[in-house]
Amino acid sequence: MTAMTTMVAARLHKYGEPMRLDRIPIPEPRATDVLVEVKACGIVPNLARVVANFFGTQAPDPKAMPPLPAIFGLDPVGVIAKVGEQVRSIRPGERVYVNPARKCGSCRMCRSGQTLDCPNFTFQGYFGRSQEIMKAYPYGGLCQFITAPEDALVRLPDNVSFEAAARFGYLGTAYAAMKKLDVGPGQTFLVNGISGMLGLNAAMLALAMGATKILGTGRNAALLEKVKALSPRRIEVFAVPDRKGEPAGPADPLVAWAKSMTEGYGVDSVLDCLPPGASATALMRALYTLRRGGRAANVGAVMEVLPMNAFWLMTNRIGLQGSVWFTTGEGEDMAAMVAAGTLDVSPLEHRSYPLSQVNEALAAMNDRNGGFTNFIVDPTRAE
Ligand SMILES: [Zn+2]
Repeated sequence: MTAMTTMVAARLHKYGEPMRLDRIPIPEPRATDVLVEVKACGIVPNLARVVANFFGTQAPDPKAMPPLPAIFGLDPVGVIAKVGEQVRSIRPGERVYVNPARKCGSCRMCRSGQTLDCPNFTFQGYFGRSQEIMKAYPYGGLCQFITAPEDALVRLPDNVSFEAAARFGYLGTAYAAMKKLDVGPGQTFLVNGISGMLGLNAAMLALAMGATKILGTGRNAALLEKVKALSPRRIEVFAVPDRKGEPAGPADPLVAWAKSMTEGYGVDSVLDCLPPGASATALMRALYTLRRGGRAANVGAVMEVLPMNAFWLMTNRIGLQGSVWFTTGEGEDMAAMVAAGTLDVSPLEHRSYPLSQVNEALAAMNDRNGGFTNFIVDPTRAE
C-alpha cells in the first residue's frame, strides 16, 4: 500500500467566483499539531455571502480575510490520521470536532486562559484578526485533511454522528452565551429567534441544561410549532406580528405575553439569536421582556444601533453581554451532554453534499427548514 500524498480541496481563487476542486499536498502536522481526515464539515449561510464578495473588496479591513486561494469550512469533524511528535493524549483513530477558534497563545489574555479574548482571535477556515495565524492554519474543513492544534480538539463520543457534531459551531455559540446567563433549573429563558440556526440550538440546549420554561419568538408560525413540539410542556412560542416602524417599549405585545407566562415578573434571561438584517427594535422588544435584574446575551447578527434607554437599564438592573463562539472545554461539555443523553441532537435534519458539489451546497442554503436543516459537506465524496 502506498501512502497517499495528495488530497482534494475546494479552494476559492477569487471572491465572487465558485470554489474549484484542486489536488494539493496533504500537510504534515507540526510538533504540537494533529492531522485530521475530515469526514464532514458544517457550513453556515454567512459563508455564501463571504464567498460572494460580501466582505471581499468591500471589507472594512481586507486583512481580515485569508490569503487566496483559500480553503474555507468552519466546522470540521473527522478522525485523527497522524499526531505531531509532542502530542501526548490524543491518538490516531480518535473521532474529533475541530474547534476553529485560533489564538496567538502568548498574549496576556491567552496566558490567563481567556483565549476567546485574544486580540488575534481568528477562525481557521473563515476569517479573523491575524494573517499570520491564517497562514499557519490555512486548511478549513472543505478539504480531505486538515492540520489543527492539539488543544483545539473535542473528542466525540460514539453516539454522536459526524453530521451532528458538524453543528457544534452553532451549538457552542449558544451554549457559551447561555452559561454566562446561568440558564438552568427554576429559570425562564427567552430565545429571540428560536426557529433559526442558532435559536433552535439554544432551545435544545436549554432543555438539556434544565431550564424550567423556554419562551421563543419567531415569524414563521409552522416552524414555531415544530420547535414547541420538541417539548410541549416546557416550550412556549410567540409569533411576532410585523410592527415595523413602531418603537419597542414595555407595552409591547411580546412583553405582555412574556409577563403572562411568568406570573408578571418577566423572564430571567434572554438570548438574542436574530439573523442578519433584523432590526434593532426587534432586539429591544426582547430585552423589555426581562424581569428586574434579568440578563441578556447577544449572539445574533443585528447590525443596527440599539435605541437603548440607559435609565431603564439602570433602574431595572438589566445586564447585557455580547458573546462570540466557545472554548474547546465548552465543546467537551456538549460532547459529554450528548454522550449522557441529556442533549438530544436528533431534531437536526442533515442535508449532506459531496465536496464535489460544494458550490451547489452554498447556493442551496437559503432554502431551509429554519434551524432544523443542518448543512454538511462531505469531503470523503470528492469525485
Ligand atoms: Zn493571544
